[in-house]
Parts: sequence; structure tokens; C-alpha cells
Amino acid sequence: MREKLIAGNWKMNGTAASASDLAAIIAGVGAGGADVLICPPFTLIDRFVQQAAGSPVRIGGQDCHPNLSGPHTGCVSAAMLADLGASFVIVGHSERRTDQGETDPDVRAKAASVHVAGMVAIICVGESESERDAGQTLSVVERQLAGSLPADATAANTVIAYEPVWAIGTGRTPTVADIRAVHAHLRGQLCRVMGMAGSGVRILYGGSVKAANAAELLVIDDVDGALVGGASLTAAQFLPIVTAAG
Ligand code: PEP
Repeated sequence: MREKLIAGNWKMNGTAASASDLAAIIAGVGAGGADVLICPPFTLIDRFVQQAAGSPVRIGGQDCHPNLSGPHTGCVSAAMLADLGASFVIVGHSERRTDQGETDPDVRAKAASVHVAGMVAIICVGESESERDAGQTLSVVERQLAGSLPADATAANTVIAYEPVWAIGTGRTPTVADIRAVHAHLRGQLCRVMGMAGSGVRILYGGSVKAANAAELLVIDDVDGALVGGASLTAAQFLPIVTAAG
């Protein structure tokens, strides 16, 4: 049985004043529904972990360095995030693959470091618009997953997020049939690589998930939750998505 996970990626948004937004999210999340995660910028993780203590809301990071410590000026390691009380880390988000040039081996090394630090890695994959138009969606996500999944991945320490690049922040989403096909493909690949454990790995859909489309997206086969960007910044937009996940 895979519990649904609704994960909010705040990206480079939020300051100390955002404590009120987290408070409203915490106040609206009931016990016993979907798992709920907020990934704020590094600067807010310590504060948010303290604020969410005792609530069902978990706090995670948006990235980490592949090494656990060392001479890497300005970087933050998975061990440091775990030390703050983070329990998940997003790795391989398409914005990092594009803006920082992260490759599949980089993402695999980051995910492995998240596991060593005792947290759950959310590994993002997804095709660009030109790859989609060329009919390459399944081969692209298969190649990214094969290159990004560490050998020690288990259902307990790994979540996959399918995020078509062209759907992120655009208001556009794939059709239900297209999402079902990609998630089924990823599930098959996970089961081939991991055996029985592959059937326990949660696969999230991400890309323009909002209150208006969450119910339709979250009932698709093998959609085990959502990775939500823009609509995770306020309780008013985020809580209906959590509710839709049941
Ligand atoms: C994301 O960037 O992970 C994302 C899904 O963004 P949005 O929900 O804003 O499309």
C-alpha cells in the first residue's frame, strides 16, 4: 500500500515572514490523510522544522551536494540537512538540471548521499517540450531514471517525481492517458531494476498541479501523489490539493 505524498517545492521563495503561511498549512492538514511535505529554501529549513514539530507536516530540502562534507564553498550537504531535521531532499529537479547543468550521474550521487544521511530522496525526471514533440517521452524518462537511481534505492528511501519540463509553471499538463502511460512505464522499470521493492516506490506527478486539477490527476493509476511548485506557497492553494489526495 503506497500512501499518497503531497510535496510542496517552494523554490527560491520565502523569508521569515513565511512562517504564517506554514502555520496555515499546518493548521489545515489533518492527521491520517496523505503524507505532506514542504521543501522551503535552505534558509528556512531550521525554522520550519521547529515550527512543524509535532504536526503531520514534514520538512525537506530542494537540493544537496553529493559529498557529505568538504571544501565546497557555498554548498549544503545531505548530512547538514538531516542535522537540521529535514527528512526528504529533492534531487535532479529540471531547474537544476538546466540552470546548474546537473547530469544523471550528479543526481545519482546526490540521491545516494541523501540515503547515507538517512533521508528520502525525491528523484525528478521529465522530458522537455521538444523531446515530447519528437515522441521521446518514455525513452527520456527511462534514461534519466536508469542514470539517476542509486543502487541502494528502496521503497522506503526513494520517491520518483515525473515532471514534464514543459508543464512546470506553465498551467499546462499532459493528458490523463499520457500521465498514466509514463507512470506505468516508470513502474515497470522500477520493478525490473529493484524487483518486488519497485512496486512500493511512490511515483509523484509534478507540473502545474493545482486545486482545480488535483482530484483528476491523483486518481490516475500509479500516481502516488504530487510535487507542487507555485500552488504550494499558500495554504489556500495547497490545502485543497492535500484534501484531494484523501
Ligand atoms: C515544480 O517545479 O516542481 C513544479 C511542479 O512547479 P509548478 O507546480 O509550479 O508547475
